[in-house]
Amino acid sequence: MIQLKNYIQGEWRAPASKCFVDNFEPATGKVYSQLADSDGDDIDLAVAAAKDMQTVWAKKSTLERANVLEAIASGIEERLEDFANAESKDTGKPLSLARSLDIPRAIANFRFFASAIQQFSSEAHSTNSQVINYSLHSPVGIVGAICPWNLPLYLLSWKVAPALAAGNAVIAKPSELSPMTASLLAEVIHQSKLPKGVFNLVQGRGESAGRSLAAHLDVRALSFTGGTKTGAAIAVDVAPQFKKLSLELGGKNPTLIFADANYEEALTGAVRSSFLNQGQICLCGSRLFIQREIYGKFKVDLINRVKALKMGDPLSPSTDQGAIISETQLSKLVSAVDRAKAEGGEIILGGKRSKISGRCEGGWFFEPTLIENLPNHAATNQEEIFGPILSLIPFTDEEEGVQLANATSYGLAASIWSQDVSRCHRVAEAMDCGIVWVNSWLLRDLRTPFGGTKNSGLGREGGFEALRFVTETKNICIKF
Ligand code: NDP
Repeated sequence: MIQLKNYIQGEWRAPASKCFVDNFEPATGKVYSQLADSDGDDIDLAVAAAKDMQTVWAKKSTLERANVLEAIASGIEERLEDFANAESKDTGKPLSLARSLDIPRAIANFRFFASAIQQFSSEAHSTNSQVINYSLHSPVGIVGAICPWNLPLYLLSWKVAPALAAGNAVIAKPSELSPMTASLLAEVIHQSKLPKGVFNLVQGRGESAGRSLAAHLDVRALSFTGGTKTGAAIAVDVAPQFKKLSLELGGKNPTLIFADANYEEALTGAVRSSFLNQGQICLCGSRLFIQREIYGKFKVDLINRVKALKMGDPLSPSTDQGAIISETQLSKLVSAVDRAKAEGGEIILGGKRSKISGRCEGGWFFEPTLIENLPNHAATNQEEIFGPILSLIPFTDEEEGVQLANATSYGLAASIWSQDVSRCHRVAEAMDCGIVWVNSWLLRDLRTPFGGTKNSGLGREGGFEALRFVTETKNICIKF
């Protein structure tokens, strides 16, 4: 049995508790590894290691730091197959997806921040002929990174790469449900020239390791991605410390299909944005608003497209839909369908647990599900489900579409499909959320800001926003 230890000060260490937690393969429902059950003592060790080495790292030139990040990117790239296999086994996502999206995007993040740190400049303000102001961006010191299970390496790289690039030390805590690729990342980092102690990995449960990391006084910035409830609990825990806090939280994202959309592209886009990674991406659309003129036809075509998605062993190249992350999450999906029915919703496709024969017969699979006849204010259409469940809602005109799309406590992302360019601009501007895709979805330019409004979070990741988050800005005013 593989036992994943912590990586602290360049060494693999068993947790202080000497206990390990079981880690399951979602596709089989079987335990296949164990991870360190860490607590505050392990976090203290990691903080001590980080403190010792952070200043050494911060004193390196930006070019030296950039070269280390480049080497980490290449190290992941050389082991792309190992990473992709580990990600697929740990999360149940199709191997083809891990290979084509998760791992390449993580590599791209390290490369991007290797370059971005060399472009990250300070502002200067000449007040008059005798006074000049300039700003310095210094590393905050120690950055905590807490990640969810759905895109484990990719989301971790969003946090680790900018923090290291800016000269910080990092303590990472992956989800207890998907610890594997973070451990592989530590192996790659171990081979790089990053001074030992600058990157530390503490495995374990959120309530113990995660909470201790978030609340540690010497962790001056915390970048968290996960559920809204957890984000709120962390915000309460750390508010009196005035540390920098970035919260990337849940969503209930709308997809708006206007009658004038490119029909084929909108249909393909709706299927992909709702069911990629079994709907377990924070950016997935879960409320599909379809303009009334095309509602009937779109619904029928959508049912046929979703029916054609192949569910199966994540390792099989033909699989579109892999497993659900955990038995608990699977039960949540079953309850969500029961609630939708109780609210008067009609299940027009799926709605049940799926059984796969062979190697995956004990795995956690759920049919891609379509629901209709529920008003936007129903709990099904308001609370995040985070799985392959999509609700179809008709709308009459642009005004109603915008109003319904915005009528949620979340504000992460939206996707709009129309060929009327003026409408696209109008609707995009009216969306109350942090990210809008027009005639596309999940298209990323790494320079752009990423994050949500309302219950979807606080702050932005990506590009220079991420570098600003992991640095403190100091203004220096000089009179000469
Ligand atoms: P959780 O909030 O349950 O967990 C996220 C991380 O926080 C895990 O590492 C977890 O550890 C840890 N954690 C749990 N409790 C605490 C605590 N009290 N203090 C510190 N850390 C804690 O989210 P999920 O892992 O279930 O991920 C799914 C959620 O993430 C969805 O809501 C999804 O929308 C959101 N998400 C948001 C994204 C965004 O960019 N906005 C992107 C991806 C996902 P453990 O695993 O051990 O419980």
